[in-house]
Amino acid sequence: MSKPPSSPPAPAANFIRNIIEADLASGAYAGRRWSGRPGPAAQQQAGAPDPAKIRTRFPPEPNGYLHYGHAKSICLNFGLARDFGGVCHMRFDDTNPTREEQEYVDGILEAVQWLGFGWDAFGASHQYFASDYFPWLYAFAEKLIEHGDAYVDSQSAEEMRARRGTLTQVGEDSPFRGRSVAENLDLFRRMKAGEFADGAHVLRLKIDMQSANINLRDPVAYRIRHAHHHRTGDAWCIYPMYDYTHGVSDALENVTHSICTLEFEDHRPLYDWLNEKLAALGLLNTPLPRQYEFSRLNLSYVVLSKRKLIQLVEEGHVAGWDDPRLPTLVGARRRGFTAEGFRLFAERIGVSKSDSWIDMSVLEDCMREHLNESAERRVAVLDPLRLVITNFPEGALETCHAPNHPLHPELGKREMPFTRELWIEREDFQEVPEKGFHRLYPGNTVRLRYGFVVTCTGCEKDAAGNVTAVHAEYFADSKSGTPGADNYKTKGNLHWVSVAHAYQATVRLYDRLFAHPNPGGRREGDAPDLERDFLDDINPDSLRVITAQLEPSLRDAAPEQRFQFERHGYFVADRHDSKPGAPVFNRAVTLKDGWAQRA
Ligand code: ATP
Ligand code: MG
Repeated sequence: MSKPPSSPPAPAANFIRNIIEADLASGAYAGRRWSGRPGPAAQQQAGAPDPAKIRTRFPPEPNGYLHYGHAKSICLNFGLARDFGGVCHMRFDDTNPTREEQEYVDGILEAVQWLGFGWDAFGASHQYFASDYFPWLYAFAEKLIEHGDAYVDSQSAEEMRARRGTLTQVGEDSPFRGRSVAENLDLFRRMKAGEFADGAHVLRLKIDMQSANINLRDPVAYRIRHAHHHRTGDAWCIYPMYDYTHGVSDALENVTHSICTLEFEDHRPLYDWLNEKLAALGLLNTPLPRQYEFSRLNLSYVVLSKRKLIQLVEEGHVAGWDDPRLPTLVGARRRGFTAEGFRLFAERIGVSKSDSWIDMSVLEDCMREHLNESAERRVAVLDPLRLVITNFPEGALETCHAPNHPLHPELGKREMPFTRELWIEREDFQEVPEKGFHRLYPGNTVRLRYGFVVTCTGCEKDAAGNVTAVHAEYFADSKSGTPGADNYKTKGNLHWVSVAHAYQATVRLYDRLFAHPNPGGRREGDAPDLERDFLDDINPDSLRVITAQLEPSLRDAAPEQRFQFERHGYFVADRHDSKPGAPVFNRAVTLKDGWAQRA
């Protein structure tokens, strides 16, 4: 049986919470020391007891803008730190010199803060860059060489690949695996000094070419790259690989719970091997961080692959990284989605290890839920048709009042001028009404919401037979909120805007960018060799730009102010294109899901 609707849904399961609770109960990290900044064992052990109960980290590579999937990881890592008296480090995993830019660093910081999280805690900022650890990473590599745990390999990339083996076949030792410590140290130092071309040598960890786990078959720790780095400039021409950098960075930062997506599960033995080696050499503080994997967010109707997002932007299928249709967080913000909605979404979908798809409507419902609560109501006529109140005096004006929020009377009311000529929605009039139509048609009586009751008397048409205006007569004693107004019983309740006072504005009706739940994915009945292109699933109606007639108070909307346009959905004043006194509006989401029946 389902619960009564009044009880809020329980937060979804999050197995990492249980792990942290158990670790805190057993005091797993209780005795750790922290020097106040990242560093190796000796530095940390000279510090005070770590004031943070746990340390997590959010470690993006600054090579693109964050997307909805990252929001899940951000809410998880920062949320756990907040809930358990810890801190989440904002760490840039910037060890790949050629793809990273300051623009992306700035965009990522802004997005995390927009989601409502920060990295200041215990009197310090915890914003870090893996590139700041290059000197330690290098020194540790020399130590590993000295202890016979790393060697310089001079095979070509093809030779290395050929000896690596497969999932079913073990690998084969490199002919350079037996090099002496002295030769390895010499070559590695010369790699650092810039004596060799890209690809001439790599440094590999000496683990086990016969391992069933490919990640343990002597993974590459360093490669030569004569490339400029966005932070270290030309100081380095060798760069550490992700697997070599990541766990060490976690340990240097005293991270306790290193949470990542499932594809790193097979990397965990390497993560542990390396950190345990370095801890045994007295280089890393203990107890060491532990890695936990959860399933990444897969969301229907969007693509979350950076490669595909870049393609959409570069080929001009959207207007830029912050196009409201893109599943980026800058796009979401511009669209009028809210940080509260994302946090609610993260709470609701939970954290598990099973791969699953979440329907886009779950995210949209979270946005609706928060916007319904927080957005003031306004009136907008999106497809305007003129209504003439023939018995209302020309030039006269009645001031009507509409509540700003039905759930929050304390937010007060605003004035809506009622005049002889009003804009109504074209679809609210039918000359010959279809069955069940209760809005305007000749002879029918409706209420103009917050205004007066009117009876339709006819319409005007142009030569082609298109309706150009509707006529009606009003009842002067029917004004909403006045004594006796309730005596009028009507079925229709229409919204309207005074023609003389309306704010004529550009409104962009955004819809889902893809018309198929799995863009580019296979469909039932597809031939086995059919390759689909995700671009073919682009929804041709994902954006419609219209000129709408809005109630006058909307002229004063501030950029990023969000509203419910009654009967239409939630809208936001665009943060970039709005001018003072002339906002442009974007539709965030409709009032109800129109996609369920289409799919
Ligand atoms: P790339 O394809 O460049 O590796 P990425 O999506 O993994 O891209 P990162 O910048 O490495 O991007 O991601 C930062 C963090 O966000 C990582 O910890 C990663 O696990 C997490 N993350 C990325 N995509 C998702 C997703 N779809 N769901 C949940 N977490 C995600
Ligand atoms: Mg990644």
